[in-house]
Amino acid sequence: MSRKKSFELAKRVKDLPPYLFATIDKMKQKAINRGIDLIDLSVGDPDLPTPKHIVERMKKAVQKPAHHRYPSYEGMLSFRQAAAGWYKKRFRVSLDPETEVLSLIGSKEGIGHLPLAFLNPGDVVLVPSPGYPVYPVATLFAGAKSHIMPLVEKNDFLPDLKAIPKNILKKARLMFLNYPNNPTAAVAGRKFYEEVIKFAGKNNIIVCHDAAYSEIYYDNRRPMSFLQVPGAGDVGIEVHSLSKTYNMTGWRIGFAAGNAKVIAGLGKIKSNLDSGIFQAVQEAGIEALKTKEPVLRKLRDTYQERRDILYSGLKDLGLGVKKPKATFYLWTKVPQGYDSASFVRHLLNRAGVLITPGNGFGSSGEGYVRFALTVPTKRIRQAIRRIKKVL
Ligand SMILES: *Cc1c(COP(=O)(O)O)cnc(C)c1O
Repeated sequence: MSRKKSFELAKRVKDLPPYLFATIDKMKQKAINRGIDLIDLSVGDPDLPTPKHIVERMKKAVQKPAHHRYPSYEGMLSFRQAAAGWYKKRFRVSLDPETEVLSLIGSKEGIGHLPLAFLNPGDVVLVPSPGYPVYPVATLFAGAKSHIMPLVEKNDFLPDLKAIPKNILKKARLMFLNYPNNPTAAVAGRKFYEEVIKFAGKNNIIVCHDAAYSEIYYDNRRPMSFLQVPGAGDVGIEVHSLSKTYNMTGWRIGFAAGNAKVIAGLGKIKSNLDSGIFQAVQEAGIEALKTKEPVLRKLRDTYQERRDILYSGLKDLGLGVKKPKATFYLWTKVPQGYDSASFVRHLLNRAGVLITPGNGFGSSGEGYVRFALTVPTKRIRQAIRRIKKVL
């Protein structure tokens, strides 16, 4: 093979920040190669299997020849009806499954494609920081610019909309929001959403609310949907994922719901770039959305037990941490004398515990680390004992 060609990467690729989890994976691999018994609290991927009834439905669905052909990009009507039915039952929100629901190959796909539908070079996207890294990357790929909305503790990790400069507002076309929030575990309420709807309407900004964690909540306090607030459907969409709710991260299925024009715009991009979700997975998704309450309660109880153990453990160690009301993350201040990266390295090398540096979610995450509750209680207790020894 000739080695002369350089195959120079496109500017949009060269401009990418290093993908957080790729860097962590390298550190993790090195530690494992050194023979460390690693406790991995870094990745937001549920450790529990997909519930059995969903797997069983998949087994049957995969045998149907009709499912072996191309699916439609927008999703089977029956899946979209199931999504609309779930919204009605869970949030008392009515959606037209034909025009207000769109299937996604995971919510990441929808978030990644949305900017391509609505942004031109020079446009601005309002992006929370710390936040899910796909928001600024999708913005970059569309040739637009991110304007960072810092999420700080004194503001309950909600963006300060009044702090966004006028010249930015003139160019802003889209805003990403995510509650319950990854990585801060913050939850938003009606008052904030009302403010967002007013702000978006006045400035003609599309809102994309990422609700991936709406079903991972504690103490029976169910987070609300953005779409429950009057006017939300006029300004934007909510993206949902089956990944976290039903332990289905590997299956790649989610959906967008809300404003029909935004849904149609996103659909336009999808119809040109992908061919939808394997229909057998959609059938399994329909089954997932019908999951009975006791199954879901058991999943939540598992996370709640882990949360309680990790929260009191970190608190006893003197670390600054709030008890999360939702998500499977604990957003924790690093102790004096460290920054995010050096604290992560210290715990990895000295304690064999891997967590995520807060600055990997954007510069506003500096000074924090994220613990994920995706390991059994025994390992969480072990992690706390190990951390105690090296603090
Ligand atoms: C996990 C996650 C998603 C992506 O989930 P999919 O598997 O692509 O549906 C989206 N947003 C946030 C904030 C997440 O943490």
